[in-house]
Amino acid sequence: MAICFDLTSEQEEIRRQAGEFGEKEVAPIAAQIDEKDEMPWDLWKKMSLPPHRYTAMYIPKEYDGTEWPILDICIAAEEITFASQAAMAGMLMEVPGLAPTTILAGGSDEQKKKYVAPVARGEAFGAFGLTEPNVGSDASALETVAEFKNGKYILNGRKRYMSFAHAADWGVVMAKTDPARGARGISAFVIEKGTPGYSVIDRVPTMGCRGHQDEEVLFKDCVIPKDQLIGEAGKGLKYALSTLDETRITLSSGFLGLTRAALAEAVAYAKTRFAFGHPIGEYQLVSFSLGDIATEIEAARLLIYRAALLADRKVKHSAETASAKAFASQLLLKATNLAVEVHGGFGCTKRHPVERMFRDARTWVFAQGAPYVQRLVNARNLLPELTIR
Ligand SMILES: Cc1cc2nc3c(=O)[nH]c(=O)nc-3n(C[C@H](O)[C@H](O)[C@H](O)COP(=O)(O)OP(=O)(O)OC[C@H]3O[C@@H](n4cnc5c(N)ncnc54)[C@H](O)[C@@H]3O)c2cc1C
Repeated sequence: MAICFDLTSEQEEIRRQAGEFGEKEVAPIAAQIDEKDEMPWDLWKKMSLPPHRYTAMYIPKEYDGTEWPILDICIAAEEITFASQAAMAGMLMEVPGLAPTTILAGGSDEQKKKYVAPVARGEAFGAFGLTEPNVGSDASALETVAEFKNGKYILNGRKRYMSFAHAADWGVVMAKTDPARGARGISAFVIEKGTPGYSVIDRVPTMGCRGHQDEEVLFKDCVIPKDQLIGEAGKGLKYALSTLDETRITLSSGFLGLTRAALAEAVAYAKTRFAFGHPIGEYQLVSFSLGDIATEIEAARLLIYRAALLADRKVKHSAETASAKAFASQLLLKATNLAVEVHGGFGCTKRHPVERMFRDARTWVFAQGAPYVQRLVNARNLLPELTIR
């Protein structure tokens, strides 16, 4: 059969286990993580342990990983985020995909053994440093430089939004080794915590996805040996973008999980809240709006699964990933906004999780590339001969 929408029994089990984990381990502490605004390190440890080993999913077996297909990671990410009602669960599912897979894309066998395998085992954590104070979507304009001198690299610059940097054992950092070459002059480095000249200088609370913060990192004459370069000089952005093509799919599944959670809350409330003598769900403005979200959830999942299947077949899928992320981002914003709308004024209070979901959504959609820029990637695929600004 060419098309089958059924999950295999293994995938059903992945879904069941992720849902159970989200409900038992994350949902009870979701409000607390949001309030304390600290990385839930214990939760990360629990996620890394058997039978889940969620920190090992992106990592090949030879580096102690479990190497799941991207589609299976999507199934787990959607369900854990749905059951926990927390963006943080989805973020922790996606984070081991970023820095470790950049090393997997271009790094040496020694680097993979030293840095990636401990992440799979839940013993270490790697942060990812691409965004800077003056540079976000246009990575080719990076200002951090790595100068090669006397057999070593000297890094100077700043990173912003380097998620969980203060807790990370190491970071993958993008810096220009050949500024004149733009995007082709960017190289990737792995830098260990405690390296002189590498410090987290600020942690700014965010509106949503709390527990994670906008962490600003400074490199000041940070000297690292040349074997901390990942792969070839000038190919750093290529490694990072190949990684992002995959993690943006699993991230979108997290968006879908949170969308479902918002819809479930809104539907439950619409059934029990009365206005003008009827449950508000009986009014078409409410029920049709809820129904539209349900339809769009199915559409988003198809887009996500298509991108995941292409990724698993090793077929180029940048445009498919971008359209899945753009669509899932808009849907998440729409669904969480509707959930607050349906709850009325009470939806803006801490009495209802929709308040947190709304803030999480507003923040989370920017992770791994702003929604407009995903639409730009998509449009470029349609109009390659035109310069789109
Ligand atoms: C929860 C979260 C976690 C994050 N974690 C990390 C991390 O671990 N590591 C890391 O490096 N970064 C991280 N980021 C940063 C994230 O990758 C950036 O926020 C994102 O890439 C967008 O960059 P920017 O915020 O600088 O926006 P900008 O690039 O400044 O864009 C501002 C606005 O302009 C729009 N825009 C830009 N160019 C165009 C265009 N050509 N056409 C139309 N519109 C355009 C954008 O869509 C956006 O709406 C994280 C962000 C969040 C929210």
